[in-house]
Amino acid sequence: MARKKEVRPEEFTADPAAQEMITRAEELGLDTAFTRALDMVPCNIGGAGMCCKQCGMGPCRLTKEGQTGVCGATIDTIQARNFVRAIAAGSAAHSDHGRDLAFTLKAVANGQAEGFMIRDVAKLRLVAQKYDIPIEGRSPEEIANDLADLYIAQFGQQKGEVVVIRRAPPKRQKLWREQGVVPRGIDRETVEALHRTHIGDDQHYEHLLQHAIRTALADGWGGSMIATDISDILFGTPAPILGQANLGVLKDDMVNVVVHGHEPTLSQMMVAATQDPEIIEYARSKGAKGVNLSGICCTANEILMRQGIPAAGNFLHQELSILTGAVEALVVDVQCIMQALVALAERFHTKIITTSPKVQIMGATHIEFDEHRALSVAKEILKVAIDNYPNRGETHIPDVRSDLIPGFSHEYINYMLGGSYRGSFRPLNDAIMAGRIRGVAAIVGCNNPRSKQDWLHTYVTDQLLKQDVLVVETGCGAIASAKMGFLVGEAGLEKVGPGLREICETVGIPPVLHMGSCVDNTRILTVLTQMVEEGGLGDDIDQIPAVGLAPEWMSEKALSIGAYCVASGAYVIFGGASPISGMPDRVSDSDLVLRYLSEGWERIYGGKMEFIADPDEMIRRTLEHIDKKRAALGLPAYDPAKFGRGGDRRVLELETLPIAERRAALYGVPAK
Ligand code: SF4
Ligand code: SF4
Repeated sequence: MARKKEVRPEEFTADPAAQEMITRAEELGLDTAFTRALDMVPCNIGGAGMCCKQCGMGPCRLTKEGQTGVCGATIDTIQARNFVRAIAAGSAAHSDHGRDLAFTLKAVANGQAEGFMIRDVAKLRLVAQKYDIPIEGRSPEEIANDLADLYIAQFGQQKGEVVVIRRAPPKRQKLWREQGVVPRGIDRETVEALHRTHIGDDQHYEHLLQHAIRTALADGWGGSMIATDISDILFGTPAPILGQANLGVLKDDMVNVVVHGHEPTLSQMMVAATQDPEIIEYARSKGAKGVNLSGICCTANEILMRQGIPAAGNFLHQELSILTGAVEALVVDVQCIMQALVALAERFHTKIITTSPKVQIMGATHIEFDEHRALSVAKEILKVAIDNYPNRGETHIPDVRSDLIPGFSHEYINYMLGGSYRGSFRPLNDAIMAGRIRGVAAIVGCNNPRSKQDWLHTYVTDQLLKQDVLVVETGCGAIASAKMGFLVGEAGLEKVGPGLREICETVGIPPVLHMGSCVDNTRILTVLTQMVEEGGLGDDIDQIPAVGLAPEWMSEKALSIGAYCVASGAYVIFGGASPISGMPDRVSDSDLVLRYLSEGWERIYGGKMEFIADPDEMIRRTLEHIDKKRAALGLPAYDPAKFGRGGDRRVLELETLPIAERRAALYGVPAK
């Protein structure tokens, strides 16, 4: 199809490796999400949340003043229903991931999961204690069995409160109880969200949006937190480790297997299987030096932060990896997997292998994962990939890769700030209170081909670091920052404001902390809770000078994350278009819901959700919010001139001086 507008690769993406592969796609006459987004003009009515297709009397498009749907539904009802459904889908995706891990933990505890073991017994005991599960004199398997039972029960629980909620600050729990938004059971809230949004049910936008909060809380303080806990218990709590990111991690002389999706269970087994002598020998028998495993999206983050397995890229790299011609198998599980992979792979030798019982794609090879025989399945998949190596044609691997240090779990942050015996969040709180760190920004979320890949992430990150804002990241946003060099220690010396630089030098950390995958946004909730517990920054999360941003969001999961962060007290800014923008210039009050997510939710929860397309405005509002929270706490106003005179910068300057001048500067002028 002839394209109306030609776009240069540099306009599609900030990533040089991606630019190279987009050029290759053009040369080969192949489409990618970048070009499809260009050809697919979004529907402005659906895009503004002004259409409803909840029943067979519609679809109804409300574009005229005073218009309602056939059933009489008003624009605010329709927008709120659409929004609740999106959050329910996002919450369900994260929570179902948590459920699968809970069943895996149960199988491991009972010796029924081939290849798995409990790697972090300390975390198992710590988590079990939070729920009063007895730990003394019991084996890890006994404790794990009880924890698995407790967690599995949270999904189908009908009444009461999901136990994970207890981990929020007490004041926040009280607020949730007063508002009637504590999740009763994880599945129940999602089911009720679908029920309430069926035709002829809940038709009051504020009441609908109250349930959006409850459904999202079942994700953040429910399914996602369960997923993070169990992943750490089974695969190890992350700690800093050296890794690499970008397509340049693919290898010309090895069998390249890329794992893509979200769940760590299969990918962890793939890591083990690639090191099996039988597999290495089999790869050699086909002419390769071995098997090179890498990841895309959150599966990448799971094995990157635990084993240092390289990340081939983030969401928009999935097609680009195939375009290298060097990938023998792209092994996918759940979420964020483009159907386009199969058609593209047909032009190369790459095999697309689906593995989840929940996800099949027409034309892909399906090898189903089963945790009871995990290692065997992983080896079977690797053999299919190895058998495919002789079919490889011409390759084109961009020579682009960046080092990064991922693995900043909340446990590690606690440790790094004080060591084994004095670990605490005190130094972080003190740095914020003094103004060395102005505040904290969590920059998370996806890529979206409707904006230049990685650019918004990295521009916003870059600007906030210069303003002494400490940045924590997860998901595809973290991989974007890795590709742009923000996740190494040197970035803490070169790319940050003077106060933050002192902290990075003293603690020895990058200025951007990679905290994991999308379900690991719950680690950020835990950090915020621990900052509250540490004291000095108020008695609830909404008082902390912190902001959450998802500059390039695209998935419903991102909306769920945003909503549970708002409910937890955070200001959350989404980039790009709002799914409920309305058209207030044509239909008055069609932005009622949009305004309610900001002003209404802030009145109740102290947090708010806003959609801001302009990155400079995102940065301005982030800093304004941080400064407002600082002032409310009675902290000194941020002053960039106050800090930064100490640290390595001065030492480096002194080292350039002639010896006499250096001595004079260091020790003063000797008495005559
Ligand atoms: S639920 Fe009402 S507004 Fe929605 S499609 Fe049916 S008739 Fe139209
Ligand atoms: S950040 Fe977004 S695109 Fe990336 S893996 Fe998570 S949900 Fe998918």
